[in-house]
Amino acid sequence: MTDNGDIINLTEAGALPPVDPGTPDDWGDGQLVDRVGRAIKNLRVSVTDRCNFRCHYCMPEEGLVWLKRDELLSYEEIERLVTIFASMGVEEVRLTGGEPLVRRDLPQLIEKLSRIESLTSLSLTTNGFTLEKMCGELVAAGLQRINVSMDTPVREKFAHITRRDALPEVLAGLEECEKYPELAPIKVNAVAMRDFSEEDVLAFAELARRKPYIVRWIEFMPLDAEGKWDQQDVLTGAELRAIIESRYPLVPVQDNRIATAQRFAFADGTGEVGFINPVSEPFCDTCDRIRMTADGQFRTCLFSRWETDLRAPLRNGASDLEIEHVIRGAVWRKEMKHYVNDPGFQPASRSMSQIGG
Ligand code: SAM
Ligand code: SF4
Repeated sequence: MTDNGDIINLTEAGALPPVDPGTPDDWGDGQLVDRVGRAIKNLRVSVTDRCNFRCHYCMPEEGLVWLKRDELLSYEEIERLVTIFASMGVEEVRLTGGEPLVRRDLPQLIEKLSRIESLTSLSLTTNGFTLEKMCGELVAAGLQRINVSMDTPVREKFAHITRRDALPEVLAGLEECEKYPELAPIKVNAVAMRDFSEEDVLAFAELARRKPYIVRWIEFMPLDAEGKWDQQDVLTGAELRAIIESRYPLVPVQDNRIATAQRFAFADGTGEVGFINPVSEPFCDTCDRIRMTADGQFRTCLFSRWETDLRAPLRNGASDLEIEHVIRGAVWRKEMKHYVNDPGFQPASRSMSQIGG
């Protein structure tokens, strides 16, 4: 317990950020806000640490220790926490993992969350492997938006990077999404890696022109379980954009929302692409995002080295107000920035699939 009564789970001794923890008076009781005034609107909820792929930049081939079933938050527990977050001004919720579609009965969770009226967006990030089969149920349960991860449109390269020969299933999942106009927009996310992604850029641009998909590239981040990330492997958004513009002129799309992606339309009006550049152009100053892991640990930054345990108070009979205080105290200490580009950068306390990307 800290002086403020927060229950803190140190992932590593001394990992708490060296900042003034504030008091409940500082934390306020309206919109969830951190100590520099960033309003928190966007919550990512991981529903599992497991996955049916083994992407090189995320998971090792084998050897990860999975959470046990009773360590995972139940759907009722997730619903309660999301309801509390929503009462503090969180408007957008994205379900992720691991691979969220491997968690049994996911539509049941979506159905529960879709009843929280103040949420303006309920979305899912998936590798798409079982999407063809599940899309209808997900939409019927209330899913509003979807991001499908696909790093290359070339089957052999896809099999290499994910360690699964599954590109046809992912493409079929995307096609299935097109049948549901309620599910919009459909986004395709590709991790951009040097000496891997360059040759696919124009094919992806053409996909974005041919299909109703917004294709976005995200820079490779040091969140891989094997710790192999190297700055040299980061292919920047600016480089990707230059490749596209060598063939197709782009025009910026104005977006007044706090967006992590820089959006561009093709100049002839057909299609849209986006670039998420957390390494080359960090957007920490406007970050409105928080995360909850599948085992109920609350993280205020993707690169956090500390977590706040929400599962323990939840299971120990804490009231909503007590849980709200734990959350507000943690958000107050939200990291100012990630230190990926700084000397002495220390990786996050968990890898991407364990956090929930
Ligand atoms: N399994 C789902 C999927 O792949 O979409 C959801 C979880 S996955 C961790 C979420 C996103 O994180 C995916 O788009 C994935 O490509 C991305 N990701 C994973 N490791 C990454 C890394 N080291 N750098 C950048 N993005 C990464
Ligand atoms: Fe699984 Fe997604 Fe990680 Fe790939 S990026 S291993 S699909 S969790």
